[in-house]
Amino acid sequence: MNILVINAGSSSLKYQVFDMTTESVLARGKVERIGMETAMLTHEPTGRPELREVSEILDHTSAIRRVLRILIDPKEGVLRSIEEVHAAGHRVVHGGEAFSGSVKVDDKVKEEIKRLFDLAPLHNPGALTGILAVEANLPDIPQVVVFDTAFHQTMPPVAFRYPIPNVFYRKHGVRRYGFHGTSHQYVSDRAAELIGKPLEQMKMITCHIGNGGSVTAILDGKSFDTSMGMTPLEGLMMGTRSGDIDPAIVPFAMDKEDLSLNEVNSMLNKHSGLFAVSGGMGDMREIIEAAGEGDRNAKLAFDMYEYRLRKYIGAYAAAMNGIDTLVFTAGVGENSAYLRKAVCDKLTFLGIQLDDSANEARSRDDRRISSPDSRVEVWVIPTNEELMIARDTFREASKALTPQA
Ligand code: AMP
Repeated sequence: MNILVINAGSSSLKYQVFDMTTESVLARGKVERIGMETAMLTHEPTGRPELREVSEILDHTSAIRRVLRILIDPKEGVLRSIEEVHAAGHRVVHGGEAFSGSVKVDDKVKEEIKRLFDLAPLHNPGALTGILAVEANLPDIPQVVVFDTAFHQTMPPVAFRYPIPNVFYRKHGVRRYGFHGTSHQYVSDRAAELIGKPLEQMKMITCHIGNGGSVTAILDGKSFDTSMGMTPLEGLMMGTRSGDIDPAIVPFAMDKEDLSLNEVNSMLNKHSGLFAVSGGMGDMREIIEAAGEGDRNAKLAFDMYEYRLRKYIGAYAAAMNGIDTLVFTAGVGENSAYLRKAVCDKLTFLGIQLDDSANEARSRDDRRISSPDSRVEVWVIPTNEELMIARDTFREASKALTPQA
């Protein structure tokens, strides 16, 4: 079965085509600047050169049509015909309390995703547009949605409720949902597989730290707590997001700087975090380099980022009454030996002992970076959210194709 995995945003769309007999990627690519005359398609068939093409693509339906055309192109394509796309899987950021797993798309599911626009106004509308665009082009294939929040639906109320009046939860669904669930689930499953122990018997903390970042405590094989909240703004300090701050800063900033709600929201999401503290750098590589050259703001940004991450790891070790596995993933987690060392060297009280040469080895593979006598196994596991989506889509679509007894 070939599966088209789609990650659609408001003006862009990323895709990968998987052959599920071998779980291999046949092609990947993206369409950017959808809605403009200068939309750009980047297409990369596996093992062959990347191709870029600028053309007018005015909506998501045309973008999918363009993607399908390149997928079956005799020269650049990887499929013989459109009939070889057997199912599509979509990443959807917010599944609210309605979805604790991936599901096949039907009218009710689309309606529910729409109802959740309020909770994810920047993300869910793009995802629904992607679903409708595939439906318009390939009306007969099953489509499956995979939610960033679903993995965290196992959190107990003690972790997911906020200590504010009940009406906000009952009437408006104000609670912790958590995000990056597909990634936390993938790396925790993979870590358990590599260590050779059932995930249910482990106390694991997974750190997905890229541009956005979140930490998850996994107990009894399930997400027990996670640092992102009702929205992806809570928790760690991130590239441009503040993460945890005193909520009283919001009305204070509105009052003192005469800001509107939208302006404060934008300040906390787009002009805070590493970017704000370093004085304009949002990329961790740049910050580490500048800090090394003596830039004090960059050094403070790095130190705060590392400190806040370490505090979460400590908090979750306390939440689970212990930890036996720590996993780093995503852009910073996979690539920055410097950050991993800064964090782990101050967690020796938990029994963490880093193997410095394993930590510094340049590799794209899953690897253990703790020393053999470390009480906690520390791993770097490159995330693969698209493969997770393809697997869930394969499972749900196969159910749809196999008549149930
Ligand atoms: P992601 O959102 O997972 O794609 O992660 C993107 C972020 O990873 C970038 O903003 C960089 O800050 C960070 N990153 C990538 N490579 C490195 C590296 N070698 N060292 C430090 N940070 C890195």
